[in-house]
Amino acid sequence: MSESFLAVLKAILDTLVLDEPVAMQPHLIDWRKRHEGQALAIALPGSTEAVAAIVSLCGRHRVPIYPQGGNTSVCGGSVPDASGSGIVVNLRRMNRILSVDPRDNAMLVQAGCVLANVQEAALAADRLFPMSLGAEGSCQIGGNIATNAGGTAVVRYGNMRDLVLGIEAVLPDGTIWNGLRTLRKNNSGYDLKNLFIGSEGTLGIVTAAALKLFPRPRHSVTALIAVGSIETAAALAQALQTEFPGAVSAVELISESELALVVRHIPGTAHPLASEAPWYVLVEIAGAEGEAVVCDRLTAILEEPMAAGSVTDATIATSERQRQQLWHLRHNVTEANVREGLGLTHDIAVPPARIPQFVHRAEAALASAFPQAVPVVVGHLGDGNLHYIAMFSHADWGAMADKPGATRAVGHLLYDIAADLGGTFSAEHGIGSIHLGEMSRYKPPVELLLMQRIKGLLDPDELMNPGRVLPR
Ligand SMILES: Cc1cc2nc3c(=O)[nH]c(=O)nc-3n(C[C@H](O)[C@H](O)[C@H](O)COP(=O)(O)OP(=O)(O)OC[C@H]3O[C@@H](n4cnc5c(N)ncnc54)[C@H](O)[C@@H]3O)c2cc1C
Repeated sequence: MSESFLAVLKAILDTLVLDEPVAMQPHLIDWRKRHEGQALAIALPGSTEAVAAIVSLCGRHRVPIYPQGGNTSVCGGSVPDASGSGIVVNLRRMNRILSVDPRDNAMLVQAGCVLANVQEAALAADRLFPMSLGAEGSCQIGGNIATNAGGTAVVRYGNMRDLVLGIEAVLPDGTIWNGLRTLRKNNSGYDLKNLFIGSEGTLGIVTAAALKLFPRPRHSVTALIAVGSIETAAALAQALQTEFPGAVSAVELISESELALVVRHIPGTAHPLASEAPWYVLVEIAGAEGEAVVCDRLTAILEEPMAAGSVTDATIATSERQRQQLWHLRHNVTEANVREGLGLTHDIAVPPARIPQFVHRAEAALASAFPQAVPVVVGHLGDGNLHYIAMFSHADWGAMADKPGATRAVGHLLYDIAADLGGTFSAEHGIGSIHLGEMSRYKPPVELLLMQRIKGLLDPDELMNPGRVLPR
């Protein structure tokens, strides 16, 4: 079967097919090199029609399809399983910006556009596409949509769901659905695009998107503030949002344990402050107000906590270069963590005011059950979303007798606390293949049933990204 299937696949118009092991390899292993699979081939379509032809062919031959973007998933969602019975459909050749309309504050892009290129195209039209995350030089808009990506600007602009006006997708039966509308309001029935946003490729392949643009803030001020406690960090996040309504573009949290790893592993970085503190808040305030005015108000806000000793130090970037340097530290945490050891990452969210409770309970629980693990924390404080990493040295992890068991145990420890505080075990990374157990454990049965029914309706043969999102 596979030879005749491959021959027809290769004959599809505007499609490149890789089936040599060396050429396929980068598509079979994820960015962090934690998940590896096999495939019959990698298909690289150049048009929506080619995607539809590939999906139809796979349907006829009952061949599973694994949609893939920049392959930066951190939950094992972007590479196929080990069976080798399916194909990867990677969208990287569909990378055209189709239009940018500053009057409508909208742009149309193919799904394979790299996020950084979309940001640049918006800037060239004096507009802002605010989605921003560490993988922006590699991840694709289709992947951002499929994972409902978050990132550092959610506190102001929302996550991907809030930034998408319309999508075009190829459904599991090969039908092309063109929902590329740029309307701000459309209450004509169910909002179907939202089914696909966050569906992680299980309901179809996103081929293009209509995205929301924003006026570009004229001024921005970036500061790194050292604080003595997680309570001060949370209170500061609140105060800044109250003081600069609508202008806080990012409020990020970094633990000293995380900053130290970045400085240790990322060449050209240095500790940005004279003294260390347990926590740092990276804030960006952007809007119409001039930088001097914002800096003065920020300094005034920090005066009292500095006098009281709860804020211990701060630096405000005085040039674009310094601003970039501060963001460079934040954007390189994943890279630093990969180099340090074996980090078990937990992408939890709780209501923002409960972050301190989560941090204290997590620290105590981890210290008691896994004293060899160092808590390394980075996250989107304004959204109540922490990446809580239990960092094991390679030696300690190597000595761990039951690694899957330890991974599960650390996860349950932290996710149970998040659940108890009204939170979630997956804030922005998605489910992929690694959180199926958590789906069964934490997701209300009615929600799971509804999801399974929707999947059954759209993809009855379960060929679209099988084994992802939904536990069997
Ligand atoms: C350094 C680093 C930092 C990160 N920071 C953040 C962050 O701050 N916030 C955040 O939310 N995430 C973050 N991530 C993870 C994040 O989910 C991805 O970076 C990104 O959204 C995935 O896009 P991708 O193109 O790489 O998709 P992939 O990794 O290739 O795929 C991810 C999922 O989407 C599906 N998919 C991909 N393209 C399509 C498509 N066209 N149609 C249908 N399904 C598709 C895949 O099947 C898979 O299930 C980070 C990752 C890294 C490596």
